[in-house]
Amino acid sequence: MAGFIDLTLPVEDSFRAIRAGVRSHPADQQVVVVAIEDRTLNALGADEPSRSADAKLLDRLFAQGAERVFFARAYADLTEPRHDAAFARALDRHGSRVFLGATPQFEQADGSSSSIVPHERFRSSAQIVSMYGETAPFDLSFRLATSSFILGEDRPSFSAALAGMEGDGSFYRVDFATDDTTIPVVSYIDALTGRIADEAVRGKDVVIAPASRGARDLRSLPLGGRVPLAYFHVIGAETLKRGNPIDLGWIPAFLAISGVVFCMSRQAIPSNRLVLLSAAGLAVIPLVLDFVNVSVDVVPAAVCLAIAAFRLYRLANTTYRGATGLRRIESLQGSRLAEGMDVLALKIRNFAIISAILSPQEIDQLLIKAHTMLRATDCSAEFAFHKDTFVWTRSKTLPADLADHAQGLHALFRTSITVGSQAPDIASSIGIDSNYGASLRQRTENAMQCAEDAARAGRVCLVSELRVADDIAWRGQILSELETALRNDEVGVAFQPKVALATGLIVGAEALLRWTHPTRGDVAPDKVVAIAEEHGRVGMITFYVLNRALVQARKALDRYPRFRISINISALDLRDRMFVPQLEQILAAHRFPAANVILEITETAPIENDDAVIRTMADLKRMGLKLSVDDFGMGHASLEYLRMIPADEVKIDRSFVAGIETSEDDRALVGSAIQMIHSLGRTAVAEGVETPGVVEILRAMGCEEAQGYHFSRAIAMDELLAQMPRGAAAA
Ligand code: C2E
Ligand code: CA
Ligand code: CA
Repeated sequence: MAGFIDLTLPVEDSFRAIRAGVRSHPADQQVVVVAIEDRTLNALGADEPSRSADAKLLDRLFAQGAERVFFARAYADLTEPRHDAAFARALDRHGSRVFLGATPQFEQADGSSSSIVPHERFRSSAQIVSMYGETAPFDLSFRLATSSFILGEDRPSFSAALAGMEGDGSFYRVDFATDDTTIPVVSYIDALTGRIADEAVRGKDVVIAPASRGARDLRSLPLGGRVPLAYFHVIGAETLKRGNPIDLGWIPAFLAISGVVFCMSRQAIPSNRLVLLSAAGLAVIPLVLDFVNVSVDVVPAAVCLAIAAFRLYRLANTTYRGATGLRRIESLQGSRLAEGMDVLALKIRNFAIISAILSPQEIDQLLIKAHTMLRATDCSAEFAFHKDTFVWTRSKTLPADLADHAQGLHALFRTSITVGSQAPDIASSIGIDSNYGASLRQRTENAMQCAEDAARAGRVCLVSELRVADDIAWRGQILSELETALRNDEVGVAFQPKVALATGLIVGAEALLRWTHPTRGDVAPDKVVAIAEEHGRVGMITFYVLNRALVQARKALDRYPRFRISINISALDLRDRMFVPQLEQILAAHRFPAANVILEITETAPIENDDAVIRTMADLKRMGLKLSVDDFGMGHASLEYLRMIPADEVKIDRSFVAGIETSEDDRALVGSAIQMIHSLGRTAVAEGVETPGVVEILRAMGCEEAQGYHFSRAIAMDELLAQMPRGAAAA
């Protein structure tokens, strides 16, 4: 675009003028300017020298040995007859060596066309040269004709004639490298009165140039001072004398840069060196070419380079995680996998808490150190980082060795990473995928799932065996089977009570999907949900459960008006534009107060950057619904993330809660999580409470509510109601 529409021309021309400044060289001294400046006009007491004075000057100049004399004006009109006669006679004497400037026909602003040519009386004996030229916007560059069609003939231009050329009608760009201050110049009045030495003009061409400040004789040089217009022809002549200038335009540099951009696009991270080198090339090569009279336009190429570099760096940023040099998971998944590799995933279980303690720079440092450590264990691997998990591939190892390797990594992470003065205690769990036949994408996801399962199960390492193949076949059918089951109302919803720790009373319940498949038995709800999410069908589950749950929760609400029903929703629901209106409709249909519904959102990284999601959450809050952050601690949630989500409560993941009796780390972790939740004014809810000991510790930590097998599994609503004491209604 920049090349085609000349938009960048001023920049191009400025750059060219700067280069000309760099190449500045003195004039060749072959041309002398005789300036009709203010001093001359004062001395003559007139606006311009009389034609008699011009005639006398011609005689003098040629007597002093001048080669040719050029007048940078047309003598288009007549003045006093005796003066005109004197000038005409002088022209007759010297005609073949005197040149008068003229302009070809050109359109004027008012639409008429006109030309300025010498009057008939002067035409016959003098030569006519064209003064025609074009200027670019802001007078940043000038192009002169080499010849023009004037009075029925092709006439060389002023500069072409000065350079001793015929001219072929083409235009060329004036090269302003000639230093204008070195062009020899004498005063008209001095020349007229014989006050200049013969040497000043002998054997030279003389240009007689109007140069008074008052008149419009002066023009600005590109990025330079004001000089008589005739200087442009003198400098143009110097340009032509150095050989025919070649103008290559913008395409060559653009093609060269396109090549560079192509190379850059093949690199994972565009090489800074290549970008800098290309930029330097764009700056220096035109300068070098200027010396051999070849002119190129580089700004379109520079624009292209800038845009490409910007976009490629940004792309690299989505491939790599900022300064850490770790690849993004999508980029790893997109790469090719060699035969017989294991895929490993190392999850930092307490990454959320660590993130809350450390600054973003410190987190980067931590990741860099962890990355360095991992690389030391396998220097050929490329490590990706996703949310809280490192993922990489490793050549196939015997299962026993693999477990040892995982144990080693776990120990290494536990003890060896310090950031600044802090040595965060890193709890890790490792998942390994060895389904060699599956795609890398499935395998990374599988490995990450294993790491997560290991974390939940309180194990260091989990190896997934040949599970995927079976999974794939099943995944194909599961959605359609679920759809049928939902339509036939064969899918159940169970309710797990939520208990206030202070009173031990039930304050609400979480609705959980229960599906018993005719042949496969109980299907894990999180698996179904994950598959539905993949196919964009999670909404059907959400609304099915919501409908069923509201019917049941009505009974609890009648008994206990503050009873709250918790519904799990998917982050994908929040992106669905119909979600809010549909939700409103369902609540209205059931006449269920919004304030008694809690929506549990499992933290997922993309929520953070999604304005639509943020807006939806704000809409939900406006409707009076309560929001809850589910599984806190498992994912990537940072303090920032928590602060951003307008949640009322935060549920601490059961994998941490279960361990607080036995593990010092988990206790510290849950303790700081509760503090963090409170500091943001949210309610803390502990999940997975299985023993009275855990209840005691949580109560001491100030945790408000809890949920878990210790109180009850997920059960039918009627069963739950039976557990609710009549008195609860009053509480
Ligand atoms: P979640 O939201 O974290 O639900 C709590 C899960 O922890 C439930 O598993 C529950 O049975 C289990 N649990 C409760 N107390 C204890 C305990 O003391 N110890 C242990 N070990 N586990 C306990 P469930 O029902 O298998 O659900 C698994 C996940 O599936 C849920 O995790 C939720 O993420 C998802 N899910 C379930 N129903 C729905 C639904 O209707 N919609 C959506 N979007 N997701 C659902
Ligand atoms: Ca939940
Ligand atoms: Ca949960």
